[in-house]
Amino acid sequence: MHITILTLFPEMIHPFFTSSIMKRAIRKGLISYDVIDFRDFADGVHKKADDIPYGGGAGMVIMAEPLSKALDSVNAAGKRVVFPTPSGKLFTQSYAEDLAKEEELIFICGHYEGIDERISELYVTDEISIGDYVLSSGETASIVIIDALYRLVDGVISSESLEEESFSSPLLEYPQYTRPERYCNKSVPDVLLSGHHRHIAQWRLDKRLEKTMHSRPDMLINASLSMDERKRLLHILDKEDQRWTLSKL
Ligand code: SAM
Repeated sequence: MHITILTLFPEMIHPFFTSSIMKRAIRKGLISYDVIDFRDFADGVHKKADDIPYGGGAGMVIMAEPLSKALDSVNAAGKRVVFPTPSGKLFTQSYAEDLAKEEELIFICGHYEGIDERISELYVTDEISIGDYVLSSGETASIVIIDALYRLVDGVISSESLEEESFSSPLLEYPQYTRPERYCNKSVPDVLLSGHHRHIAQWRLDKRLEKTMHSRPDMLINASLSMDERKRLLHILDKEDQRWTLSKL
């Protein structure tokens, strides 16, 4: 997959692509990337890329022309162009899965009050919000989206690691432990040391159900759970006297 990022602040992007799992994915040839400073496409000695909004109001708006020239330089027409914005569609794991199927993605990083609307009309295929809050930059939002999707590209991480992750099913992930067995008077649950695979699987399923019930009960309400998952959930709800949640299921 090739990822192009259009930004006024390339220095915010590079560290992500030169660290950890992404660095390895690039070394293996699974991901490649370009960072384009679209100020380079602005006119004049000052290379001005933003201006005051028509109609008045606070802040500055990124101008259409430098962005459009930068987009044309990478032949963006007809390609999947993502613009992270608080007014976009909410980003989810299934959205990440959909984007991960593309061979090429282009990201436009907004800043200040955002970008001239005509760029969205002319080039953007996906306006995506990463949550109901306002960040100061599209660079961090783009990195969040890229981080969620590139790890789903074949070969970046093992498919086994992806299987039981939060949101890969309607349940959140179970708690994880590593050495030492005892830390600050807290022990790793005995079942994880037992070597008994069926008991470990059952414990993990119970923990996923409990975690989802406590942190995200909304996910359980529309979840299509198996008979076994349903039975165990009802048992947990009953045990915890969660009659309110029980009545919603
Ligand atoms: N004036 C805009 C509004 O009220 O919708 C907010 C602009 S924000 C200060 C600057 C940039 O940060 C946006 O253009 C967008 O690229 C990015 N951004 C901020 N919050 C975001 C969110 N929740 N999801 C995705 N991108 C976001």
